[in-house]
Amino acid sequence: SNTLYLRVRIGDIGDDLYVILIADVSEQRRFEAVRRDFVTNVSHELKTPAGAIALLAETIGDAADDPDAVRYFAGRVTKESKRLTELVQHLIDLQRAQASQGVMDVERLSAVDVARAAIAENHVQAEARHVDIRLSVNGRPVSASEDDEEQPETPTTEGKGGNESVKSEPMIMADREAMRTAVKNLVENAIHYSPEHTTVAVGVSEHDGKVIIRVVDQGIGIPEKSLDRIFERFYRVDPARSRATGGSGLGLAITKHCVQENGGRISVWSREGEGSTFTIEMPQAPTDAGGNASDDTGD
Ligand code: ADP
Repeated sequence: SNTLYLRVRIGDIGDDLYVILIADVSEQRRFEAVRRDFVTNVSHELKTPAGAIALLAETIGDAADDPDAVRYFAGRVTKESKRLTELVQHLIDLQRAQASQGVMDVERLSAVDVARAAIAENHVQAEARHVDIRLSVNGRPVSASEDDEEQPETPTTEGKGGNESVKSEPMIMADREAMRTAVKNLVENAIHYSPEHTTVAVGVSEHDGKVIIRVVDQGIGIPEKSLDRIFERFYRVDPARSRATGGSGLGLAITKHCVQENGGRISVWSREGEGSTFTIEMPQAPTDAGGNASDDTGD
């Protein structure tokens, strides 16, 4: 039953001219099953906040003469809507990552630029939770801000001192969007699963022909038995907590997909109560011969 026979009649030449295609479709069947599971999961994930919003709206209606209650429930509606929005954004990211197979826009990129863009996307959440995001390159602290004009952290003796480090930035060959999405999700999680007033350290470094992008948090950590499951779609260590804080369960699956599609690897170290470290390892881009100055330091 895993074999598909297809008889195709060719043209109008005669009655007996057919091509018979025989295909093993067991792989497709497996794929179908995975897809069905995925759709079931997505439907469930969408229904939960949507149902909550409906219920909360009803409650607001009932509590119309109690301003405190109205404020409280309105706040929860906002939270659930944000969850919906994040889930939809993650679905779009996942779809994009999967559809991109083979048609990625691979270019020479500064891994530091990628890290800065990913940090910028988490700026608001980090500030709201008083989480300090730091960036370092080969162990040296640099500005985490995308705005290159102000690099206050490294006092420079000569005016152009800042550009020196830019020139030696670790370079990778990858799709910019995919890599930014990958790192963005790691930083998002690092903030999500950390107490307020902690630090998230993003480090970019070179080692043995590899470029390492590392995201280190001082958060709740991940139990050992969950470590090899967290990259699965919709897997969560603590579903209640993750949902309450807005997690979609898709972030790490997207990250892993993006990294692997670009020839890299991802790994995790974690200890409960101490924090987690996610490490992306990318092949280093071959050095550009002839002093090609096309590596843009801006945008
Ligand atoms: P979610 O949207 O739930 O965060 P992810 O795929 O991004 O989904 O992560 C899967 C699960 O892995 C999370 O629900 C959480 O339990 C755990 N996790 C991911 N990153 C971290 C982290 N930095 N610290 C602690 N737990 C984490």
